[in-house]
Amino acid sequence: MAEVQAKPVPVPDGVSRPYWEGANLGEFRYQRCGACGKAQFYARSACMQCRATDLRWQKAAGGGRIASFSVIHRAALPSFAGDVPYVLALVDLDEGFRFMCNVLHCDPATVRIGMPVRVCFESRAGSEQKVPQVEPA
Ligand SMILES: [Zn+2]
Repeated sequence: MAEVQAKPVPVPDGVSRPYWEGANLGEFRYQRCGACGKAQFYARSACMQCRATDLRWQKAAGGGRIASFSVIHRAALPSFAGDVPYVLALVDLDEGFRFMCNVLHCDPATVRIGMPVRVCFESRAGSEQKVPQVEPA
């Protein structure tokens, strides 16, 4: 039997650290611009709308809908081979930004565009870092 490889785990940096720390607390954090009010995700050092650097971390409620998705039948990495078929999706969170993730805890054949989902937090072998994903709401 082949040895199971561990899935990749995030390496937080100075900009993304609050996001990853939030995930470990069960919070999905995103940035909102203090100048123009626009929500943005993923974490950056400046607002993508107005270039201001007054970015404030906020906690998302965790609800959203599937904007698009693909069912993966051939894993890109050996560590995901045991998960196929699995769903890679673009999710529009209710706070106004898009998030790429896996849709967990469901039959991939039941996933639909517009389907309501909620954020959940995946544990990965060999790491204390939780990874935000979604599951059916
Ligand atoms: Zn802005």
